[in-house]
Amino acid sequence: MTALPETPLERIRAHLVGLKMSRALETLDACVRRVEDGELSALGFLDELLGEEHVTRESRRIKSSLMTARLTRIKTLDGFDFSFQPSLDKNRILALAELSFIERGEVVHLLGPPGTGKSHLAVALGVEAVKARKSVYFATLAEIIDSLKKAEREGKLAQRIAFITRAALLIIDEVGYLPVQPGGANLFFQLINARYERGAMILTSNRGFSEWGEVFGDVVVAAALLDRLLHHAIVIEIAGNSYRLREHARLVPENLRLPPIAPPEKPKKRRGRPPKNLND
Ligand code: ADP
Ligand code: MG
Repeated sequence: MTALPETPLERIRAHLVGLKMSRALETLDACVRRVEDGELSALGFLDELLGEEHVTRESRRIKSSLMTARLTRIKTLDGFDFSFQPSLDKNRILALAELSFIERGEVVHLLGPPGTGKSHLAVALGVEAVKARKSVYFATLAEIIDSLKKAEREGKLAQRIAFITRAALLIIDEVGYLPVQPGGANLFFQLINARYERGAMILTSNRGFSEWGEVFGDVVVAAALLDRLLHHAIVIEIAGNSYRLREHARLVPENLRLPPIAPPEKPKKRRGRPPKNLND
């Protein structure tokens, strides 16, 4: 440490610079004025200065972790109107927000028709996890498969799988909206197999498990995926109406209204692990 200035205020300033406490430095003069005006005590001064620095650093950390997690369209549990989805047990969601499912490495399935808040809840739980200093990675199934395909072409599949599976919480949104292209199911299986029993996941889907053969274009791979994704699983079904269409639901023609999804079907018995490359 170089020689310190003589006055206490100048010394505080030098300490804050040395400690890289830029927000505290910014608020220093205002805090000092409030002490001089008798508005702040000595303890109040310290509280204010450290509080400003801490809050600013924390919000910077959260912002950067949200970017790393690819959580760019932020949704919160406070912003979710539970009264709009009476089939959804609010307490189950609030229990998930305590995040012990992450420690237990469980898989949460959020199922329901479009617009019922599956992505909203998945993102909101991701945001809670980021706030609690857990690493999160969010992507749609289509994005994950595209990135695995690209990595495979470049001979970097193992690294890509290691990268995607390293977060404490992996959120895979939109299983079932788009049909998985040939080869995609196989790559996704390799990812899930690498992740299996190693970390928590949240998956959202508008399709029942009985339709996964169709979604992945391969019943054998779908069964192997479900085998892993329903072991240590929490299944939450939302049977309500679309929040997006809440004011215009009656304009959607009868033949385009979605039926509720079929109840979960757990594969009966595991008969050995399928080969690593399921197309062999
Ligand atoms: P899904 O993923 O089930 O198709 P989303 O979560 O994307 O549906 O929800 C569609 C839109 O409606 C989003 O903007 C979401 O924030 C909002 N939304 C859905 N359900 C609710 C709710 N119960 N309360 C508040 N906003 C909601
Ligand atoms: Mg969605």
